[in-house]
Amino acid sequence: MRARKRPPRELPFPAAPHLRMAQLGETATFDGVSAFPPARRSELKAFAPQVLVASADALVTAAHAVFSDDLALESVDTAVFALTQVGGTPVAPPERDLIWRAFQVPLYELYVDSEWKLLAAECEAHDGWHLRSLDVEFHLEGGELFLRQPALAAAIRTGLTASCVDGLCECGDAAPLVRPIAAHCRSLAASAL
Ligand SMILES: [Zn+2]
Repeated sequence: MRARKRPPRELPFPAAPHLRMAQLGETATFDGVSAFPPARRSELKAFAPQVLVASADALVTAAHAVFSDDLALESVDTAVFALTQVGGTPVAPPERDLIWRAFQVPLYELYVDSEWKLLAAECEAHDGWHLRSLDVEFHLEGGELFLRQPALAAAIRTGLTASCVDGLCECGDAAPLVRPIAAHCRSLAASAL
C-alpha cells in the first residue's frame, strides 16, 4: 500500500465519518466524501447523501435542478457546505436563501486555500467564521481581511472585509472568530490602493 501523502482533511461539525457525504465536483477535497462530477450526477440519488459539499455556483445549479425536478435529494438531512476559495466571494444572501429552500438544512460556508485546505468555517450560530488552521493568521488592515502563512513573507489580500477578529462567540467555540464577512466593496478597494 502506498503511504498516504495528504494530511487528514476533515469537514467540521455537523459532518461526521458515519454520514454519507457527497461533493459536487471532479474531486473530493475532504476525507470520507465521495465526488460526483456532472457525468455521475445521475448516481447521486442512489448514493443518498446526507451532507452536500460544493462551490456556491455548483450548489446554486443543484438548487435550480431540485426546483425543476431534475434532481431529487431529500436524503440531505444534515448540512450543506459551500466552499469558497481565497480570492473568491462569499455566498451572497439570495444564493444562501435559494440553497436553503432547495435543501432545507443549515448551510455552512467553508473558507479554503488554493489547495482546498480548510482555513475557516462558518460558526454554528452563523455569526462569522471560526479560524480552523493553525498555520494561518488573519488580521485586519483598514477593515480589509488579510491572511498570512508563516512560510510566505507577504500577507495575502482576501478581498473581504471584516469588522473584528476575536475569540469570543456565543456558540461556545473558542477558536478565533472573524465577522462579519463581506465582499470588499469596489469603492473601498479603490480608495485603499
Ligand atoms: Zn461561533
